[in-house]
Amino acid sequence: MSENFEKIWQNCLAVIKDNVSLQSYKTWFEPIRPVKLQDKILTIQVPSQFFYEWLEEHYITLLKKTIKKELGTDGKLEYSIIMENHVKNASPYTVKVPTANRKALRNDPVSMPVDISANPIKNPFIIPGLRKVNVDSNLNPNYSFENFVEGDCNRLARSAGYAVANKPGGTAFNPLLIYGGVGLGKTHLVHAIGIEIKNRFPSKTVLYVSSEKFTHQFIDAVKNNNTNDFIHFYQMIDVLILDDVQFLAGKQKTQDVFFHIFNHLHQSGNQLVLTSDKPPVEMQGVEQRLLSRFKWGLSADLQIPVLETRIAILQKKMYADGIELPKEVVEYLAYSIITNIRELEGALISLIAQSSLNKKAITLDLARQMIDKFVRNTAREVSIDYIQKVVCDYFDLPIELLKSKTRKREVVQARQIAMFFSKKMTKSSLANIGMHCGGKDHATVLHACRTVNNLQETDKTFRSYLEDLEKKLSIH
Ligand code: ADP
Ligand code: MG
Repeated sequence: MSENFEKIWQNCLAVIKDNVSLQSYKTWFEPIRPVKLQDKILTIQVPSQFFYEWLEEHYITLLKKTIKKELGTDGKLEYSIIMENHVKNASPYTVKVPTANRKALRNDPVSMPVDISANPIKNPFIIPGLRKVNVDSNLNPNYSFENFVEGDCNRLARSAGYAVANKPGGTAFNPLLIYGGVGLGKTHLVHAIGIEIKNRFPSKTVLYVSSEKFTHQFIDAVKNNNTNDFIHFYQMIDVLILDDVQFLAGKQKTQDVFFHIFNHLHQSGNQLVLTSDKPPVEMQGVEQRLLSRFKWGLSADLQIPVLETRIAILQKKMYADGIELPKEVVEYLAYSIITNIRELEGALISLIAQSSLNKKAITLDLARQMIDKFVRNTAREVSIDYIQKVVCDYFDLPIELLKSKTRKREVVQARQIAMFFSKKMTKSSLANIGMHCGGKDHATVLHACRTVNNLQETDKTFRSYLEDLEKKLSIH
């Protein structure tokens, strides 16, 4: 009975795809290759030992379920692990374990892959007298994993970073490229990786450097005729963290030298961690050969945190600094500043400074004035979320009701008012406003705006509602 193992794996993948996020699917399942099926044992090939461990740790239940579905209760899964650390033509190493039997693997010396990275080739060029331990890592101790709030916006990047910190150079994530907009935590996260590695492996040489500094150092080296020293210095780093690589765009010579350093470090099994404000495909002015190397490992993005995460970040910061603020003030900040965590923190700091200089209590009013003065115009726009919250507080309705589809009279009215103010005070499209307010379409929003306008003219009580709300919402 020769079943088609590829077909079987395709079937498994179809089930898996429905059960994990697209990002996880691409990261963890697309790179897997089915190898054979024998005696109800399906063998799959994974790119690394780390990959195998990750699958066993995070997806074991799902894998077991799908295998059982395809092969019956006595179906088993076997991993074939491609040897890490760049041994060309090495045949894949097979670990004979049924799923969920990781312990057995650990205790079975015969099954353990040989770690050939233990004896890396020594760099013959290391500058005599320059001891590795003397390298200052340039890490900011405040940017630790403990201080980094986890959320959906950063989960993949954070866990990949953590995995790298546990096994620098020994995971499939080499290089690890973290990308995302300004102020979303790229620098913080890569520092956290560096700090964690330093804690776990004190003898490893970790270096954090901004691309700007790297470029200037290189230019100086060229001027002073010691580019070789420059290159050799970077080639002996175990974990190189290069921040904001987009800065290298258009700088041909610096890219060249980084290309060689990258290759050397990567081939020696050393870890590279990079950040950028955009994904590799969108980096212009960076050479293709470099871009293609950036894609060798894992690119993970940081997204804009949702409201709850923004509040959690503010709370963590307040806790660290021993500050207490009224809940409404914290919420107001988190509602008002959306796209940039640095600005969010900046607003918090300005607020505290303001209040201590003027000896005023930190109130919602003070927060409003401050936001008005200190935060850049773009970030100052009230958000639909904030409008909904103010409207719901005013009418004492739970916000979930407003976002639901219910047609209860008092909810419908509050929802229409929220739509009306969203139209008036934000740049959102009608469709977007509708989506936020109970999944309505743009026609419904338009109708709501008309209704509110009409009532405003004919109904005195209604008009006073609007005036109250307008006051609450205006940030002047
Ligand atoms: P980027 O390098 O992406 O421009 P940074 O790493 O400098 O952003 O982050 C800006 C500020 O926001 C830093 O003070 C950082 O500590 C803070 N920050 C960003 N993300 C988080 C997070 N998830 N948890 C806590 N603080 C964060
Ligand atoms: Mg940064």
